[in-house]
Amino acid sequence: MEIDGETRCFGLIGAPVAHSLSPYLHNRTYAELGLNCCYLPFHVEPEHLAAALQGLKALGFGGVNVTMPHKEAVLPYLDQLEEEAARAGSVNTICLRGGRLIGYNTDGRGLVWSLYRETPWRPGGSALILGAGGAARGVAMALAGEGLAELIIMNRTPEKGRRLASLLAAAYKELTVTVLPLDGELLGRLQPGLLVNTLPVDPWDWERGPAISPSTVVCDLRYHPPLNALLAKARRGGSRAVNGLGMLAGQAALSFALFTGCEPPFEIMYRLARAAAGEGSPPQTAGP
Ligand code: NAP
Repeated sequence: MEIDGETRCFGLIGAPVAHSLSPYLHNRTYAELGLNCCYLPFHVEPEHLAAALQGLKALGFGGVNVTMPHKEAVLPYLDQLEEEAARAGSVNTICLRGGRLIGYNTDGRGLVWSLYRETPWRPGGSALILGAGGAARGVAMALAGEGLAELIIMNRTPEKGRRLASLLAAAYKELTVTVLPLDGELLGRLQPGLLVNTLPVDPWDWERGPAISPSTVVCDLRYHPPLNALLAKARRGGSRAVNGLGMLAGQAALSFALFTGCEPPFEIMYRLARAAAGEGSPPQTAGP
């Protein structure tokens, strides 16, 4: 599709953004669906965030995705916050409607989409989340919204874990939430139905570290490299273990739908994300 006077503009703001797959996923999907839209990456330093958001209004952008380090910093500049984003305290999607900035968070539902698509996980049991940062908050809220019975949060800074636990307890009365220190030995003694790693680094050597039960479904939000030490260990032990590419595709498809008004193009973006990461064609069905 040629860019012309009717092209609708979308993009990504963050620092850095050069590594992001989002421009590729969105632009390729516009092309496949024949939409006259374009999506650009913008490296925005924190001191320019307010001006960048004003600029999007002035230029008539349709919306932007938001990545680190701005997911929480954009909150004071928004005219409206959708419930999921308010609960997570973090925004990954801003739509501009009638000159107003409306904040959403599609990360958590993106993760849930990936679990249904790629794994045998179904709600109702227990989950353990490593981390309590922005991604963990969105994921925890979305899992709780799916009807999770029990959630364990392990975080380096216990205070942040406790803050997330009280947000969850206030929003989901039926959910049992426990906060534990980030401790490999402790982890090895637990057998959650789902283990979600939201830590950007490995907290211990997974090779020699805690055992993972084969009945635990494992999801690591990272996807560089596609098969990291945690996922390799979990798979060797018989677990279904997936990286963050499915979540990336899921959250992108949900943002795409908010931007364009189309149905979320989950399968297109999943195929594109996997191909870009060298993972080949998506599996046809979920399962170990
Ligand atoms: P964040 O808000 O900065 O949170 C980072 C979390 O990791 C915090 O819980 C922090 O603990 C913990 N942490 C950081 N360094 C640590 C260390 N050296 N040892 C132990 N714990 C450490 O980041 P985020 O936005 O949640 O993102 C987390 C990860 O998810 C990143 O790798 C990001 O790329 C990925 N992600 C993937 C997707 C996807 O679509 N696949 C979407 C969103 C995010 P403290 O509380 O103690 O600081």
